[in-house]
Amino acid sequence: MEEIYVFGHKSPDTDTICSAIAYAKIKNLTPARLGEINEETKFVLEKFCVEVPRPIENVGGKKVVLVDHNEFQQSADGIEKAEILEVIDHHKIKFSCDKPVKFLTEPLGSTATLIAKYFESDIEEIKDTDEKKKIKGLLLSAILSDTVVFKSPTTTEEDKKIANDLAKAVGIDDIVKFGIDIKKAKGSIGGKPVESIIMADFKEFDFNGKKVGIGQTEIVDINEIYEIKDQISKFLENLKNKNYEMTVFVATDIIREGSELFFAGDKSKIEKAFNTKFEGNSVYISGLMSRKKQVVPNLQQVF
Ligand code: MG
Ligand code: MG
Ligand code: MG
Repeated sequence: MEEIYVFGHKSPDTDTICSAIAYAKIKNLTPARLGEINEETKFVLEKFCVEVPRPIENVGGKKVVLVDHNEFQQSADGIEKAEILEVIDHHKIKFSCDKPVKFLTEPLGSTATLIAKYFESDIEEIKDTDEKKKIKGLLLSAILSDTVVFKSPTTTEEDKKIANDLAKAVGIDDIVKFGIDIKKAKGSIGGKPVESIIMADFKEFDFNGKKVGIGQTEIVDINEIYEIKDQISKFLENLKNKNYEMTVFVATDIIREGSELFFAGDKSKIEKAFNTKFEGNSVYISGLMSRKKQVVPNLQQVF
């Protein structure tokens, strides 16, 4: 039988990887990844004894299911020539396809929430209890990761309810502690090259024909970021000059619940987008947690 590949976006995060694996397990498909997994995802896969999906390069001519993304810019090479069977996603929609396609979307906190919600009966039907526990553990981890332990404004009551049910099923009593453990697994950024800090979770967007790149990192101590402020600005500037109209980096302190927002590009545009003044190339914005719900829509509006 011809293989059907399930994968999420480039610069994979925990929701992308865990949703791909969980859906592949539920539907007997092949999970794959676009790029290396991060340390947070590694922690989750080890915790539930699940293998890292295989990398996939070019998907031209292949049958595919997209999870946690729908924009071709964030997808695999050759996606225009792939046969897309299904999309399961919680991002804004920028998708078109020549053929009818099954498209499952809701503005929930993670793709994993959608999978847990809509495929609950498929999961319950799985006879192998160990396999069932793995799927639930992965989905729980992905919800906690994407909602930043329910602190992100993308979080809904449904995310919380489904996560709590999953936690009960896998025997995790303190869901918030488990969530913070997942976030902490990313480790300190001290000593890491600036490039890897910015590019580990980096997405490209097309705003009215202009290419904008936005990276994000989640940390437990924002001071680590202030120590490398100049290097971050320099990297963003070089990156912009290569390929972008604007580059942005969102360093989110998950304890303080706010972000230092860095940019390179037209200052008047970004000041207008966030209705604030930037000192140099960055500013701290309290309550800013979500690229999808807060950064992208604000920027899109000014382009
Ligand atoms: Mg994602
Ligand atoms: Mg997601
Ligand atoms: Mg994310």
